[in-house]
Amino acid sequence: MTALQLLSDVFGFDDFLPGQGEIVEAVCAGRDTLAIMPTGGGKSLCFQLPALARDGVTVVISPLIALMRDQVRGLQEAGVEAGALTSGNTQEETDYVWQRLEAGTLKLLYMAPERLASGSIAQMLHRANVSLIAVDEAHCVSQWGHDFRPDYLRIGELRAALDVPLVALTATADAETRDEIIAKLFASRKVEVFLRGFDRPNIHLAFAAKDQPRQQTLNFATARKGQSGIVYCGTRAKTETLARALAEAGHSTCHYHGGMEAEDRREVERRFQQEDGLIVCATVAFGMGIDKPDIRWVAHADLPKSIEAYYQEIGRAGRDGAPAETLTLFGPDDIRYRRQQIDEGLAPPERRDADHGRLNALLGLAEALSCRRQSLLRYFGEEAEPCGHCDLCEKPPEVFDGTQPVRMALSAALRTDERFGAGHLIDILRGTSTDKVRERGHDALPTFGVGKEYDKRQWQVIFRQMMGHDLLRPDAERHGALVMTDKALPLLRNEAQIELRLDTVRTAKTGPKVRM
Ligand code: ADP
Ligand code: ZN
Repeated sequence: MTALQLLSDVFGFDDFLPGQGEIVEAVCAGRDTLAIMPTGGGKSLCFQLPALARDGVTVVISPLIALMRDQVRGLQEAGVEAGALTSGNTQEETDYVWQRLEAGTLKLLYMAPERLASGSIAQMLHRANVSLIAVDEAHCVSQWGHDFRPDYLRIGELRAALDVPLVALTATADAETRDEIIAKLFASRKVEVFLRGFDRPNIHLAFAAKDQPRQQTLNFATARKGQSGIVYCGTRAKTETLARALAEAGHSTCHYHGGMEAEDRREVERRFQQEDGLIVCATVAFGMGIDKPDIRWVAHADLPKSIEAYYQEIGRAGRDGAPAETLTLFGPDDIRYRRQQIDEGLAPPERRDADHGRLNALLGLAEALSCRRQSLLRYFGEEAEPCGHCDLCEKPPEVFDGTQPVRMALSAALRTDERFGAGHLIDILRGTSTDKVRERGHDALPTFGVGKEYDKRQWQVIFRQMMGHDLLRPDAERHGALVMTDKALPLLRNEAQIELRLDTVRTAKTGPKVRM
């Protein structure tokens, strides 16, 4: 049977989803393949169909027992001989698997990575006619990722021992994870890499600096009144205060976070699924099981933690393909909060560095100067033309040569031993003679008062952009004092220049103190 025949006869689909066809072809042909597709992109078919097209049995390694069982059930219902070896098996299921395997009729054998540690299973796999290994959630092999599963490291040995082609699948697309997958699973052999389907053209992308954050969120929601939307908040408390503010503004709304009773959470999920125009103010706990195709908008009241998280969260909008809108707010406090979360976490230092890197990538996206979709897709490794349908395409930001103020700011940090936060550095730059400035003798510094041409708010925007470009980082061990990164050195030595966004600097005016 041809691939297309199998597609319709067994799976009941008329056509491949974007990217599926080429991946199926490569895997059917026995080439080592790494397929990166977003969640919902249709990855399972990329190994299930080739498993049927090829002789012998395909071993599928997956970390999620529930998912394995679902897939096995689905395949069996379609008349495919598939089975799983998991800790949740009944004796009957296990017997079925061994029998079919011995008879040589089993087409797909699912197992958790832990099973690979068992000697009897390894022997059994050597005897069986294994023709393909499929590794689902392949990013679990990455030691710096959040889903690391040590047993995934055994897969490389299995592949080498059986000497059969391997297809690895994942929705995680950053370059380091990809390289790690190739190194660990394929022993750096030549691999065909497919990265497809990350663009969600119906989703409009926009970021905005926090100016009056609550009002910005309210305005965004009010302009979309009657449409279902999600507001993601950085803290549990904020889901409640924002929901109250939205309710006061006449919206139908409720809050959702992991600290609520399971029953109350289910009630919110049920209402969201059934009602039109409900707004849920939620932490990231909301969304896993949400399968609502007509979510028309997603707002981030606070900066997410990485591009992957951002993409997942906005990706819940517009599943039906109709236009959907997003807005992500960010400010210096977000950056500080996220950095602190990483520094105060229990992760080993290497993981922390990787997490800072992920946050930097997101900040780079927030401060991007041209097409946001292009920057987003480029992060995932997908090349694209400017989209014409994001905030930056619609209104290209004006930029200016920010080298001079950036050098002033770096020099102020350096001359004060990188021991102070933005507020104090701005006082120095603006020549504001506060008690703190005088006590420390900072009014005698050569940088004192060199930055008068920008007012306080404008300096705050410049500092935010500098943090966005990862020139300065708040140091948790020094109470958030700003320290320079290596990236700042060429600027400090006058060996590099930097462009900053002019619009946000120009519109920032010192007025009443603004909550960030
Ligand atoms: P992923 O593992 O990438 O998240 P799945 O393999 O679970 O995605 O597939 C997502 C959904 O797409 C499933 O409901 C699946 O039945 C459906 N699907 C997969 N391939 C096709 C296709 N060629 N045509 C239509 N629907 C498909
Ligand atoms: Zn664009």
